Amino acid sequence: MGVCLRVGLVHGILSRGGWFEDVRRSLHGNFECVPLPYWQFLPPFVVPLFLYPVAILAMVATGLIALAAVLIGSQHVEEVFFTASSLQGISLPGPFLPLIALALVASDETTAQDLVLVAALATTTMALLHLLRRSAMKRVRRQLGRLCGDPRRPHLIAHSMGSWLGVNALLNSDTLSVDRMILAGCVLPRHFGWQRLKGRIGAVRNEVGRLDVVSALAPFIPDLGRAGVDGFRGDRSEVHDVAIPLGECSLCAALDPGDRPLVHNVVLERYGHSDVFLEELHARDLWLPVLWGFPPDSYKEFGAACARLNQLSNDMNWLQAEQKCKELRDQTWPWTTGYSPGNTLGQFVEATIRSRYAKIGRSLPDTDDELADLVSWVIVIAGGHLAMATAQLEMPTYQRDVNLARRLFPQTAIGAAVEDTTV
Ligand SMILES: [Zn+2]
Repeated sequence: MGVCLRVGLVHGILSRGGWFEDVRRSLHGNFECVPLPYWQFLPPFVVPLFLYPVAILAMVATGLIALAAVLIGSQHVEEVFFTASSLQGISLPGPFLPLIALALVASDETTAQDLVLVAALATTTMALLHLLRRSAMKRVRRQLGRLCGDPRRPHLIAHSMGSWLGVNALLNSDTLSVDRMILAGCVLPRHFGWQRLKGRIGAVRNEVGRLDVVSALAPFIPDLGRAGVDGFRGDRSEVHDVAIPLGECSLCAALDPGDRPLVHNVVLERYGHSDVFLEELHARDLWLPVLWGFPPDSYKEFGAACARLNQLSNDMNWLQAEQKCKELRDQTWPWTTGYSPGNTLGQFVEATIRSRYAKIGRSLPDTDDELADLVSWVIVIAGGHLAMATAQLEMPTYQRDVNLARRLFPQTAIGAAVEDTTV
C-alpha cells in the first residue's frame, strides 16, 4: 500500500490523457496519480460516435419514408411480418420495424433495398458505439478496481467521456467506491440519479464550463447529457450550485457535514470543454485542496499568509512577523476545526504540541506565556515548511523531495514544525 492516497485519472475521447502529467506535477507527493486509459475512442474506433447522430437521423428519415408508404397502402401483410422479424435479428430499434417493413412492400424494389441498407448501416453504427462504450467502461472499471484494493477509497478525476465511463463503472459494480470525484467537461445527463451511488461516492465536484460546446451537443448520443455546461439538477438535498470556483458553498455553511449534498456544480463562466487544462495552476489551486476537502480560497489565503510570514522571518523583521503570526494564530481554518480544544490555528497547534509531547514524554513549558510563545514559534516554522513544500512544486517530479512536498498539507506542515521543536 502506498503512502499517498491514489487518484484515478480518466481522459475523454480522441485523447491519451495529455493533461495527466500536468495534474501529476501538481499532486505528486500528496497524491499518487494513476491513469485509467482506454483505446476505444481513439481513431479509427471513434468514428461510430461521430456517425451516431447521422445514424439517428437516417433511422428517423427511413421511418418517415416508411410511414409515407404505409399511408399509400400495402397489400403484402405476410411480407411485412417476414421482413420485420428478419430485421429484429440485427437489433433494429423496435418502433421502426413495422414502418420499414411496410415501406418495403409498399415501395418499388430499389427503394426497399435502399431503405434496408440505410437501416442496416445505421443499426451497425449504433450497435458499434454501444459495444465500444461498454468495452471502454469495462476497461476503466477493471483498472479502477485495482485502485480500490487499498482500504482508503481513491479519488477520481474524469474529463468528458471519462465522466460517463467512471460513473458507469461504479454503477455497474457492487464493490467499487471512490471518495471525491472531480468532473470536468462532464457529459452525463443533468438529471442523473446520484442516489443510486449513495454511500459509494464521498462527494462530487462538477466543474461547469458555460462555453462547453461538446457537453452542449452530448445529448445527441444516448445516455449522455449537458451536465458539463448546465450542471446537474436535483433536489437541494442532493445538488448545490457554487458560483465562485475557489469559494466555499454558501448553502453548506449552515448544514452539518452529514446533511451536505453529494453533488456541487462549480460554475466556470468563461471555460470551454477542456479549458481547465490550459493552466497547470488549475489542478494546483483548485483540485489539490478540494481532494483534501478544503475550500480552495481558504487554502490559497493560508499559503499566502504563511509565505508572507516566512519572508518576514527570513528578513528578520520580527515586529511584523509577530503581528502576522498573531493574525494567523487567531484565525479559524477548515483544517483546524473539529479538534479539541477549539477551532483557531493557535488552539490546533497547542493541541498538536500537547499530544506529541505527551507521546514522547517531553514536558510542556512551565507557564502559559511560554506555551503561547512555543505555539507562535511552531506557526513560524510551519510557515517555513509550507513555503519549502510550495517550492517543491516548481521542481520536476523525479527531483522532488516527497517528504517536503507532503508539507503542503497544513496539518503535516504543523506536525513537522512541532517535531522540529522536540529535537
Ligand atoms: Zn453545498
